[in-house]
Amino acid sequence: MIDDPARNPGLLKLDLYCKGMQLDESCFVEDDGGRPIMRTRAGLGSGLELILPDGLWTNVPVTEPFAKRSPYTLKKNRGAYEIYLDGKLAARVGLSPQPVWYDWKTSQGRAMRRVGTLQGTYLGIYPARVCEYWLEYPGHPHKDNCKFCSVGLNLGKDDGDEKTVQEVVEVAIAAWRESGVTYVDFNTGHYDGDTFIDILEPYIRRVKEETGVLIGVQTPPHPDLARYDRLKEMGVNRVSFCFEIFDRKRFEEICPGKHRQYGLNTYLNAVEYCARLAQKNTIMDEPWVSNGEIIAGLEDPQSSIDAIEWITEQGAIPTVCVFRPLLGTDLASAEPPRTEDMVPVFRRLYEACMEHDLPIGLAPNINVSLVMLPEEGRYLLDDAAKYRSKEFKLAVKKKLFRTKFLTAQKRLRDRRHNVHAERYPTAVTH
Ligand code: SF4
Repeated sequence: MIDDPARNPGLLKLDLYCKGMQLDESCFVEDDGGRPIMRTRAGLGSGLELILPDGLWTNVPVTEPFAKRSPYTLKKNRGAYEIYLDGKLAARVGLSPQPVWYDWKTSQGRAMRRVGTLQGTYLGIYPARVCEYWLEYPGHPHKDNCKFCSVGLNLGKDDGDEKTVQEVVEVAIAAWRESGVTYVDFNTGHYDGDTFIDILEPYIRRVKEETGVLIGVQTPPHPDLARYDRLKEMGVNRVSFCFEIFDRKRFEEICPGKHRQYGLNTYLNAVEYCARLAQKNTIMDEPWVSNGEIIAGLEDPQSSIDAIEWITEQGAIPTVCVFRPLLGTDLASAEPPRTEDMVPVFRRLYEACMEHDLPIGLAPNINVSLVMLPEEGRYLLDDAAKYRSKEFKLAVKKKLFRTKFLTAQKRLRDRRHNVHAERYPTAVTH
């Protein structure tokens, strides 16, 4: 592995998650077309969206105290943005462009960026009310939110409250047409009565019908696992279960609501069940992947690696976030993880996905800023040639999938243009 972040963009992405970055006074990100720093309901995203060398999209911590003592500084120099490491130029970077539709209004008069936000190049939507672990009400006298989470701190701030199906469809169409979005991710917290999938289904059906994009769903595990067969039939392409921590004792400490309500085994059973649905898939079906999501840095690195081994053995794909001690959260004063502890975790992420022939990096135009993608773990390999023949096979699959998907998208875009202009004018004409 090249161990100099100035020469290894993957290592730079990881090191910036762990150390954050200072902003020099020469930076005027929004005036220069960059995205505002938003504390959205995405929970972990609070930073500056940038594009690193090799086209790696990222979200760099800049507001938390640890970022104020970072060795990295972003400066603007003769019109270009550059990252310096200990005063030496490390990388020329781009600002992730602010979408034109962020300030457009929905038919109900709300700014579109309060309905959905771009995270990297995909659209993230949190359509329902706040996760109930954050609330106190009869039968739930004490908050038991996850300790790293900022979702309940954001009420009434950058992201709006409940959104109608009409508004979400308008924003999805605007993002699809103007930003070339190919993937929409729906996210909810916990609601008593396990209503989260019932809530999401009408949004999913309409967005799929109008745009044909790939759809992901991130909710707690539903006790009726057959609901995932139904989501698959509906055209959902990815289900993600955030159990965050594989160490049972740490899980109980950090995620008290999840422990009380579901328990770690319920999450693991859902990951496993949905991975089995992927094995039933034929070439004619919509793609389908099961994800297990963890946060590295909240447990021993070996435990994160054990989680990666378990998830990939099921045929599911791990999503690995780097812990960020967000302002205002219960863990605000904790330290972020050390880069040297994270390198083996992300290296193993890539290796395990390749060893289990998992379909990573196939979908077009999905650049994720909030996490290091499994395929980005390749930057951390000691022997980059190790998986050459598997990478070749994956590249062939990727080409076939992209051609099929983008051809279908172009047809749909042409077919729906007039319908959208008539039915959803706020999403098409400004
Ligand atoms: S389940 Fe935990 S991480 Fe998810 S929104 Fe609720 S408190 Fe936050």
